[in-house]
Amino acid sequence: MQFSKISSEIFQKIQNLLGATNVIVDKEKMYDYSHDEFAALSHTYFPEVVVKPKNTGEVSELVKLANREHVPITPRGGGTGLCGGCVPIFGGMVLSLERMNRVVEVDRQNLMAVAEAGVPLEQFYHAIEAEGLFFPPHPGDESATIGGVIATNAGGARAVKYGVIRNFVRGIEVVLPTGEITRIGGKLIKNSSGYSLLHLMIGSEGTLGIITEATLNLYPPPEMLATLVVPFATLHDAIETVPAILQNKIIPMAVEFVDQESLQITEEHLHKKWPCPNGKAHLMVILDASQEDELMQLAEKVSAICEEHNALDVVIAMDKQKQRNILEIRSKIYEAMRNAMVEILDLTIPRASIAAFVNAVDDLSQRYGMWCPTYGHAADGNVHTHIMKARFVQGAWQITPGWEEKYPKLRKEIHELGHEFHGMVSGEHGIGLVKKEYMPGFLDAAQLQVMRNIKATLDPNWVLNPGKIFDPKEKV
Ligand SMILES: Cc1cc2nc3c(=O)[nH]c(=O)nc-3n(C[C@H](O)[C@H](O)[C@H](O)COP(=O)(O)OP(=O)(O)OC[C@H]3O[C@@H](n4cnc5c(N)ncnc54)[C@H](O)[C@@H]3O)c2cc1C
Repeated sequence: MQFSKISSEIFQKIQNLLGATNVIVDKEKMYDYSHDEFAALSHTYFPEVVVKPKNTGEVSELVKLANREHVPITPRGGGTGLCGGCVPIFGGMVLSLERMNRVVEVDRQNLMAVAEAGVPLEQFYHAIEAEGLFFPPHPGDESATIGGVIATNAGGARAVKYGVIRNFVRGIEVVLPTGEITRIGGKLIKNSSGYSLLHLMIGSEGTLGIITEATLNLYPPPEMLATLVVPFATLHDAIETVPAILQNKIIPMAVEFVDQESLQITEEHLHKKWPCPNGKAHLMVILDASQEDELMQLAEKVSAICEEHNALDVVIAMDKQKQRNILEIRSKIYEAMRNAMVEILDLTIPRASIAAFVNAVDDLSQRYGMWCPTYGHAADGNVHTHIMKARFVQGAWQITPGWEEKYPKLRKEIHELGHEFHGMVSGEHGIGLVKKEYMPGFLDAAQLQVMRNIKATLDPNWVLNPGKIFDPKEKV
């Protein structure tokens, strides 16, 4: 695929449109836009220019220019992605939505909010909570943006009870790859009006359109929460408990599983204590209810189920500060392990198979002599295996000899295992740059061809985020 470089004439047009301060060409300043969370470790590609439009009209003009001149254009939100999705591998423009950061409206009557695509989640949660409302999805990094979480169909711990981002998007404004602006859906709960372009755009990773604004569904907030921390002697016991909780008609807000070794590393990193020092594996269960009696009954029922399944202890935190402390340790495991991590995988498998899958990953990990802790969302089958290049021994990270050669083979085998377990390559992070090689292993040829046809129809010049999900050379 041949793309054009940004000529001085194209550059001048961009500057005339946005003003010099909203166009970056200085290499040092462009570093932040050359990678995301995954690629920070290994995949860095510089754009020729970073552009920062202020409104949808400017986005549309930039996309029209890119399409006309065959210049690649890559949308970027918070850059917290974990698969190289916003990395400009063919150069061209990185279009950062950081200046489109207004929460336009919180509509209490319709229980909807309208926000520009560049609004970071943290800002969005504050705006919603200030109106006494609740936005249930909670992907782990609050510097992710509204546009980014829609483009990746992000999930997070609360997906067990409330579902992923897709379940909350009611309308979007999108700039198509030709530069046309379209508004899809609206403040509607139901909509059966032809093919759902809304759901086509959600999860399309910036390859089919640039989302500039979104209308999102809100909920009344839960009145009260309880957080349970439950240690087990084995990961198997911990994970086998989860279906029993669900079969007892209890749908917790979150059920996370995590191994003791990862917790200890995080405790040391944060200088904070997890409430249970014993056990090899832990469940963290968050329950919500509208009344205290109801919450206590739920907590007692979950405790009893855990005890029936060999729990070593059950700690119930009702106090907000204790709950925050537990959640912080769970949320910061990634940060504590990051520098010793090669990759965080995102396979999703039928939830009844989690224990068997984790055991099989453990066997592989031992065969390769590389530590692969698996933790994540225990009740929705989304297992985040971490491929580590080092292990924390006696207070220091010790590099695993030969990890560079072992990593690609181990990675491939774990994905093959995911396929054997009837899973999918990504549950919430997306495909981006680094997982597209696995697409043919998980999706059949007919599906892949339909996807490529859709891409070619909407983006005939393949200028929008090329090289993500597919290679441009696979152009139909
Ligand atoms: C510590 C940590 C914890 C995380 N926890 C979770 C988790 O629990 N669940 C989860 O799902 N993810 C999680 N993630 C991954 C990440 O936060 C999500 O993938 C998030 O959705 C990315 O949003 P972003 O704004 O940072 O997007 P970016 O990384 O900037 O971009 C991601 C993709 O979206 C596209 N894109 C961005 N904005 C737009 C737009 N306006 N229009 C069209 N395309 C766009 C980009 O081109 C790219 O393909 C975590 C990441 C970290 C670092």
